[in-house]
Amino acid sequence: MNADQNSRRKFIKNISLGSAASIISYPMLSSCAAPQQNKDKLGIALVGLGYYSTDLLAPTLQETKHAYLAGIVTGTPEKETAWKDKYGIAEKNIYNYDNFDEIANNPDIDIIYVVLPNSMHAEYTIRAAKAGKHVICEKPMALNAQECESMIKACKENNVALSIGYRMHFEPNTQEVMRIGQEQVLGAVQMVCAGAGYRETRKDHWKLKKAMGGGAMMDMGVYSLQAARYVTGEEPIAVTAQEFRIRKELFTEVEETLTFQLEFPSGALANLHTSFGMNMNYLDVRTEKGYIKLDPFSSYNNINGSTSEKTLNLPQVNQQATQMDEVAVCIKEGKPLRVTGEEGLKDMKVVDAIYRSIAEGNRVSLV
Ligand code: NAD
Repeated sequence: MNADQNSRRKFIKNISLGSAASIISYPMLSSCAAPQQNKDKLGIALVGLGYYSTDLLAPTLQETKHAYLAGIVTGTPEKETAWKDKYGIAEKNIYNYDNFDEIANNPDIDIIYVVLPNSMHAEYTIRAAKAGKHVICEKPMALNAQECESMIKACKENNVALSIGYRMHFEPNTQEVMRIGQEQVLGAVQMVCAGAGYRETRKDHWKLKKAMGGGAMMDMGVYSLQAARYVTGEEPIAVTAQEFRIRKELFTEVEETLTFQLEFPSGALANLHTSFGMNMNYLDVRTEKGYIKLDPFSSYNNINGSTSEKTLNLPQVNQQATQMDEVAVCIKEGKPLRVTGEEGLKDMKVVDAIYRSIAEGNRVSLV
């Protein structure tokens, strides 16, 4: 691990391996998955064995109750051996990017989890759907809203589930903040402020490349955007965004820092930011009668919540375990998913508008 990876890991890591909390059904679940009832645990194949698969998802899949690490897809032959030895993955469940589509004939694999660079999410989600496999796709869902629509269509046509890796929806303190905001427990939400970012110093990583889906907004900004949407429970009607590049030599293609303002139908406003230049991880909501805070709000653990009336103190859970277990149960039982492809699409419509606002220097209407 190099120093840069180390600093990112130190900042957002500290995974908690605590027991999964009970599922809080908020917001209302929507969209149906095709049932897969004949198995105790569903087999997940991870596609792309980089940081998130290696450090978070694979170790977590050793603890999940309703899913397990059944297979891998990698372009690196050394990883095939290392992962086979470490996790006891059957040879027949190891694929590369060339023979990926043969996964259609493998009954051990129920769910394909796409953990690739953002520019590859649409292609591999669509190929997975055509192989008849359920899909979890990492955030951001794709490069733009148009790609998201084609992913949703492919999954519908092949009658497979599509969920997006928004793990905060499975975190109890975050779920309570959604409830307090959306049910107006402290009066109507008036202003949401949130920041999500870390200092990126890697020089040739795909996150610095526009064509690969790089940029702070795509990587971290979606957490701030999600917060504004899940606290208000509304879709923005307009967006205005500004971009800043301090380290111009590093950020030749993508934004280093973005600030963006959202206007909601109720009159609520959001002032949000994201950065590859600064560490930030907070949510601060002003309501008619008080405030709601999460600080940090998007880390893997220690999500710390309070309101003007109380400290939340809800259990810390292994977010990835809770997420993958719930998705597996929904698929097994044919129940609606908590985080659907449509949810990822809603974010990407706003992200498209954010980039348009920057390019045009204008407020962009979303209605
Ligand atoms: P990473 O760069 O560490 O891993 C990417 C993997 O894709 C590598 O194994 C790489 O070999 C492989 N790959 C295949 N084709 C490639 C190509 N053409 N160029 C570059 N790499 C290629 O990235 P990561 O941090 O693991 O992120 C992967 C995805 O997971 C992203 O979509 C990211 O947003 C998401 N992610 C989500 C969370 C979360 O908390 N939900 C956290 C980290 C990353």
